[in-house]
Amino acid sequence: MSLLALIGLAVLAGLLGAGVAGVTLTVFLHRGITHGSHRMKPSVYAAGRWFTYLTIYMRHWEWRRVHRKHHLYTDTWIDEIRHDPHSPIVISEREGINGYRRVSWHMAAIFHAEAKLPDIRDSTYDIPQLDRPLDALDRRIFDHPVRGAVVAGLAYAALFAGVAPLVLGVARTPSWELACAVAGIAALGVHIWVLLRFGGVINSDCHRGKVWVDGAGYAINVKLLSFLIFGEGEHQTHHLYPQFARISTRWDLGWRVIAVLRWLGLTEVVVDRETVLAARRQLSQSRAGQTP
Ligand SMILES: [Zn+2]
Ligand SMILES: [Zn+2]
Repeated sequence: MSLLALIGLAVLAGLLGAGVAGVTLTVFLHRGITHGSHRMKPSVYAAGRWFTYLTIYMRHWEWRRVHRKHHLYTDTWIDEIRHDPHSPIVISEREGINGYRRVSWHMAAIFHAEAKLPDIRDSTYDIPQLDRPLDALDRRIFDHPVRGAVVAGLAYAALFAGVAPLVLGVARTPSWELACAVAGIAALGVHIWVLLRFGGVINSDCHRGKVWVDGAGYAINVKLLSFLIFGEGEHQTHHLYPQFARISTRWDLGWRVIAVLRWLGLTEVVVDRETVLAARRQLSQSRAGQTP
């Protein structure tokens, strides 16, 4: 019974860790440093880099460049360099395989292959007015994402070895301590698996459109998914308006976190979603009124 409870505890801890990773991904990596939809104070930028290192295990500048490339070439292929890095449609057409399945389950492999290309290694997609230059911490620490995963695994194992016997009410025998430490490593496995699913769902299920939309490719809004992926479900809206800090109107946990940071004076939201959308509606109405 205690062993089952330990497994349950490992799954719960892994889900919580993946939740922290998901919030870091959407608030810091995606809406923050990549699209600049909110401008973070140095303290939030510093925390975001550490959270990325300890929960996402990717170089933050590589993630930013690969994602900007996705926006630039959404669902298109020009050549080996100029293409959408993870378009399920392009992968299906070019490789003759199920691109949706490939993107859903193999985002890590796709990302690592893309990160080796020269346009991701150099500054092709950097925006000097927006991007903070890489510093000594980036070169010495954040350039080694595998070490971040090892540190996280050790932290999970130490936490479980220290706390799990108390929670489960079992004696601290060597075999229980070992079982708890192993459960901690398993929690990291759950964390990474859920994180990869998070990325896979956005990039496959949110690109299942049947109609091409200029500026958004085959991206669609899957509002129900926003509950699971912290507001990222309105993916077509996001492609059309990447400058919006608030992506979804429902279930947008990422936006809630940004709103709290703004309230604390730790970040500034660049544009107001409702103002921009109202102006756009007004413009299309006046254009429709002019049409004979
Ligand atoms: Zn997309
Ligand atoms: Zn984006």
